[in-house]
Amino acid sequence: MAELCMRCGFCNAACPTSSLPSAYLESRTSRGRAVFFRGLLSGRPPEDPLAEEVAADMEYCMSCGRCMNACPLEIPIPLLVGAYREARAREKGRSAAERLLRGYDALDRFAGAVPKLYNAAAGSVRGTIAKALGFREDLELPRASDRRPRIRGWRDGDVLLLVDTYTWAHEPGAPEAVWRLLIAMGLRPEVLGPLDHGMVLLDLGYISRLREEGAELVERLSRAARGRKIVVVSPASYYMLRRIYPILLGDGARRLSADVLDVYELVLERCRGRGDGGRNGARITYHESCLSRSNSQGDRIRKALGMAGYPAEGTLTRCCGLGGAWGLRRNGARISDELVRKFLEEAAAIPDGSVVASESEACRFQLRRLLPRAEVIYPADLLRRALEDGSLDCSGRSGSAAIPPSAGKTGT
Ligand code: SF4
Ligand code: SF4
Repeated sequence: MAELCMRCGFCNAACPTSSLPSAYLESRTSRGRAVFFRGLLSGRPPEDPLAEEVAADMEYCMSCGRCMNACPLEIPIPLLVGAYREARAREKGRSAAERLLRGYDALDRFAGAVPKLYNAAAGSVRGTIAKALGFREDLELPRASDRRPRIRGWRDGDVLLLVDTYTWAHEPGAPEAVWRLLIAMGLRPEVLGPLDHGMVLLDLGYISRLREEGAELVERLSRAARGRKIVVVSPASYYMLRRIYPILLGDGARRLSADVLDVYELVLERCRGRGDGGRNGARITYHESCLSRSNSQGDRIRKALGMAGYPAEGTLTRCCGLGGAWGLRRNGARISDELVRKFLEEAAAIPDGSVVASESEACRFQLRRLLPRAEVIYPADLLRRALEDGSLDCSGRSGSAAIPPSAGKTGT
């Protein structure tokens, strides 16, 4: 796929890091990465493709996939970069941080099982210890919640609700909000999870492992779904199941991807608003996370919020700088800080007390730190509030258990 690159540069315009001042070299941009891989395949590779400076330029990629969405050929730069990272790790080894993060799914399960112990351990990884491990020195890890999602599943329900390990342990309110919306639509969700979507493995470049674990996940979901739709809580699940696994794993994953959707599609199809937008008086700003943009979710999230009486008065389009686990590592820290400065310039116009809605759990964690005077919330949680105060009604067409075909792009 890399050989198809025609150097048009559309990917650069979409990439969150390619417009940074420090990305003035072509090799630090999205197109530069595609051209690099094309060069490798054409028999004109650079002298040492695994050299330190090449790897440092490759750090400008956080695997978000915004480039794929903009590319006319959908060239999967995140997978190419992941394969590069894996190849380099075979030769040069990995930092302790990367090896630790490789087990993030187990860490999230641990966080869910014994949150107090996890929080104490996570809080102690900072300063010189963090630096020595390969994390950023001022590392702060998300805290685990002391409760689990209060959701109940139905065996052989109308629809599957896929909960990822991260939100299960850290943000139980997110799956609860989606579950509540499905119930209000008259659907009986069967709960799947907590399950790992594999996004961090992609970013770290554990591609062989991702191939194995992704295949297991796809097989398990395909067996469970039996033609039913799968509603995801996290945009990372959506991204992996609809965009990445179809490319990495082929036909089975491609078939499954057509059954994956987010709750906003269903809200727009099955619910209606009371029509007096903004009745709660809250000023809503929508932060379009990199993954939401890759997934083309932004428009329907904004539409659903507007319908529920929460029209977004503004949109924060700049990357918050975290990029999931990418922004926690020492080698991405300088680029992450540069993104944060740009983000804060854009966010300066947000008045105190605003409500900022963002679909990505990593962004919400980062936004709470960067915008301490704002309320940062999962958009589906605002829809849940709208259900409770009566500004959203999902009961109209709730008699049918049929779920509409999914909208948006799937992997090709
Ligand atoms: S948008 Fe696609 S084809 Fe164009 S330069 Fe980027 S990777 Fe190459
Ligand atoms: S995956 Fe994201 S960071 Fe990497 S090249 Fe594409 S848009 Fe840029």
